Amino acid sequence: MFFGGFPGGGDPFSEHFSGGGGARSRGPVDNEEYYKVLGVPKDADDNTIKKAYRKLALKNHPDKGGDPDKFKEISMAYDVLSDAQKRKMYDQYGKDGVNEEGGPGHTPDDIFSMFFGGGGRRQSGPRRGENLVHPLRVSLEDLYNGKTCRLAINRNRLCSACAGRGGKEGAERPCGACNGHGVQIQYRQIGPGMVQKMQATCSDCSGEGKVINPRDRCRECQGKKVVKERKVLEVHVTPGMKNGEKITFHEEADETPGMLPGDVVFVIQSKPHDTFQRKGADLIMEKKLSLAESLCGFDFVVQHMDGRALRLRSAPGKVTKHEHLQVIPHEGMPHAGNPYVKGRLFVLFKVVFPETLDQLAVSAIASVLPQPTAPALTGEEEECTLEDIDPAQFGQNDAVNAGGAYDSDEEGGRGGPGRVQCQNM
Ligand SMILES: [Zn+2]
Ligand SMILES: [Zn+2]
Repeated sequence: MFFGGFPGGGDPFSEHFSGGGGARSRGPVDNEEYYKVLGVPKDADDNTIKKAYRKLALKNHPDKGGDPDKFKEISMAYDVLSDAQKRKMYDQYGKDGVNEEGGPGHTPDDIFSMFFGGGGRRQSGPRRGENLVHPLRVSLEDLYNGKTCRLAINRNRLCSACAGRGGKEGAERPCGACNGHGVQIQYRQIGPGMVQKMQATCSDCSGEGKVINPRDRCRECQGKKVVKERKVLEVHVTPGMKNGEKITFHEEADETPGMLPGDVVFVIQSKPHDTFQRKGADLIMEKKLSLAESLCGFDFVVQHMDGRALRLRSAPGKVTKHEHLQVIPHEGMPHAGNPYVKGRLFVLFKVVFPETLDQLAVSAIASVLPQPTAPALTGEEEECTLEDIDPAQFGQNDAVNAGGAYDSDEEGGRGGPGRVQCQNM
C-alpha cells in the first residue's frame, strides 16, 4: 500500500497506529464495583437491579439535593448492568470491556428520563464479531409440520486454559518487529530525494501487534487464544415458518478476545413441492381433469402434508371448466402464530381435451348432447381453410403486408395499395 511522503515530513504512522496493540495488557480485572454501587449481589436478576437503581436514583438525584457525582456513578452502573451484553462484557473484562467503544451510550440524565418516563433507548455497546449466516433447506412438509434439525458447527471459543490470554498472565508483549503497530514500514527510493513509504502486515505477529514467547504460550491453544469447538445446535423449524425467515442463535458464532461473539443465523430456504405451491398461509395445487371428469364429475384423493387423505368430489351435475378455481377453507399452511389456524387450499383445474375422437365416439356423444343448429346455406358461401396458430401471432401481420407492398414497388409499383402510393397522396 502506498502512503506517500518525503523524507523529513511528519510520520503519519505514529498518528495512525498509536494506541493500537500493546497498550491493553491488564492486571486483575475489577468487575465488582458496579454491583457494589447498586448494592446488589453479582448474580442479581434484572428486576433486583432495576429496583435497586430506582431507589438509589430517586434518593441521589441532583434535583432532589443529591450528590451529582454519586448519582453519575449509580447511573453508570445501571447503564451497564441493565444491558445483558454490557453486563456480560463487564463481568469478563471490567470497565474496560464496556468503555472501549467510546464510553457508555447514555448520559446519566438520559437514563433517568428513560427510566422515569422518557424517550427510547439507543443501541450501543461493545464490538461484536461477525454473524455466521447459513441457509437451511427444508421441505414444505417441514414448514407445515415443523421439524427439529440437529446441525453441527465448528467455531472458535476462547481457550479456557488461558482464559483467552494465549499464555500466562503478562506473557503477551508488544511485537518488537513492528513496535506493536502490526505493520512493517519499508522505504523505497523512487527518485532523487524522493522516497516511497510502503507498509506490509508484520510477519512476526501476523498483524496483531502483540506476541507471546514460544515457551510462554498456552499449550492448549498454542497461544492463539481460541480453540476450535464443535457444537451441535438444535434448530427448531416451527409450523408456518416462511421462506427467508431467520432462526438466530445469539452469540454462538466465533469468539474473539475482547469482542462479543456474533450470532449464528439460519435462513429458511423452502424446497419446491411436487403438489403444492405456497403463498403466505395459502396453498394452491393444480388438478388435471379428463374431458369426462370435466363434464360428468370428478372424485379423487389428495395426500396432505400431515399424512391425511383428502377426498375431493364435484357437486352432482356440475361441469368443471378449464382453469376453474375452487378453494377448500382451513386446509392451507398453518399460521406461524397459531398452528391450529390454517390458510386455504386452492385447486386450479386444467381440463385435458382429447386430441381426436373416432366416429363412434362422436356419434355416441352427439346423441346425448343438445344438437347444434345447422346454418341456413344459400350456396354462395366461400369455403375457408382453418389452420392452427400460436395466439402470439395475433396482430403480428404488419411486417407481412409491408414486405408484399415493397416487393411490388420494386417491380414498378403500378396500382396496388403500397407505401409509395400513400406518400404521394
Ligand atoms: Zn490457551
Ligand atoms: Zn509485529
